[in-house]
Amino acid sequence: MNQPLGQEPQFERSSFRQTCDYCGAIFEVFVSRLADADVDEDYHCPECIKHFTIAAALQPLVRLRVKRGDGKTDRYQDTMF
Ligand SMILES: [Zn+2]
Repeated sequence: MNQPLGQEPQFERSSFRQTCDYCGAIFEVFVSRLADADVDEDYHCPECIKHFTIAAALQPLVRLRVKRGDGKTDRYQDTMF
């Protein structure tokens, strides 16, 4: 349980809350950035799976905070797979 952390780069970690503009769910996005290593990373609304992108070094983590408020169960129809 005592793993040395020596090689991990110094990510700049941040998080923000986002309201899905499709279904109204509120979720928190945890982003790890690294100077000169940021690319467009994908993440998805945890409720309707709508696709978003953000500049980050790793794929963002997403945690649902408030369930969708539109009363539906459909998924966002995203044609950009
Ligand atoms: Zn959504």
